[in-house]
Amino acid sequence: PYDVLVVGGGPAGASAAIYAARKGIRTGVVAERFGGQVEDTLSIENFISVPKTEGPKLVASLEEHVKDYNIDLMKSQRASNLEKKDLFELELENGAVLKSKSVILSTGARWRNIGVPGEEEFKNAGVAYCPHCDGPLFEGKDVAVIGGGNSGIEAAIDLAGIVKHVTVLEFAPELKADEVLQERANSLPNVTIIKNAQTTEITGTDNVNGISYIDRETEKEHHVELQGVFVQIGLVPNTEWLGETVERNRFGEIVVDSHGATNVPGLFAAGDCTNNPYNQIIIAMGSGATASLGAFDYLIRN
Ligand code: FAD
Repeated sequence: PYDVLVVGGGPAGASAAIYAARKGIRTGVVAERFGGQVEDTLSIENFISVPKTEGPKLVASLEEHVKDYNIDLMKSQRASNLEKKDLFELELENGAVLKSKSVILSTGARWRNIGVPGEEEFKNAGVAYCPHCDGPLFEGKDVAVIGGGNSGIEAAIDLAGIVKHVTVLEFAPELKADEVLQERANSLPNVTIIKNAQTTEITGTDNVNGISYIDRETEKEHHVELQGVFVQIGLVPNTEWLGETVERNRFGEIVVDSHGATNVPGLFAAGDCTNNPYNQIIIAMGSGATASLGAFDYLIRN
């Protein structure tokens, strides 16, 4: 069996695996798509000590670093079930079962898509999901935020300090964000909030040049000219496959303590799939290191 089996090969999983292997213990990584969300990122400017890089480039160095160690890297393999017997038993979609004394879950998350024409086409060309990552690219420009929940209104407040103007489009008749956030957003001169707005299309040529929506009250269609659209309708953790195996919160995020430990002894988690706040590469790597050291502490005591 493995000593540490990592499920997920994004920055959290890669970091967890390297920290484990450096203890000289038997380490494996199962990853459906090595690199995770980083593979989909064009430009990264907040990975501290690397002023500017690109997703696929960072993924290549992650893989090189993992391969410097004696780590069993199982790419293009999807985990479908986890059980704790004497050992943890991780079942893969191909039917194989891997056994390990401890497991680190780092399956990440995915942004919920709005699913309108133009969204796929203009990803990385004006359609964005992460204001911390891509906000500065829209300095001095006009942008829209789709979604009036906490993340949407936080994004609008954040972006208002960088861009020229922010239009928030909320489908429902009311915003779902906390009252304090709504008050703050309403107080900003360069934020316009439109409720009852059903986004119908993101328009553009090479890059985004506007957004169309239907006012659900009047049923009239409107078009706003702008250069960027931030979709903020939810980040979904990739944890559905775990069922009741491990405690998750109401968002489906795995609940971890400050050591990355879950409610199941020997089972740890890190990165965007957990209830850690703030989803960023540098944070995912740090939490992967934490979970791995947590797992090592567990192994030397059991
Ligand atoms: P992920 O990167 O999501 O990796 C999850 C891993 O688990 C993948 O290998 C996946 O294939 C695997 N997996 C999932 N389910 C299973 C399963 N059942 N079995 C096996 N494997 C599974 N952050 C920044 O700091 N700076 C940026 O500039 C930045 N830009 C971004 C741009 C975009 C478009 C996106 C989408 C995100 C961006 N982020 C950025 C956020 C950052 O990418 C994430 O916070 C980070 O990748 C999270 O790392 P993770 O390892 O927790 O999860």
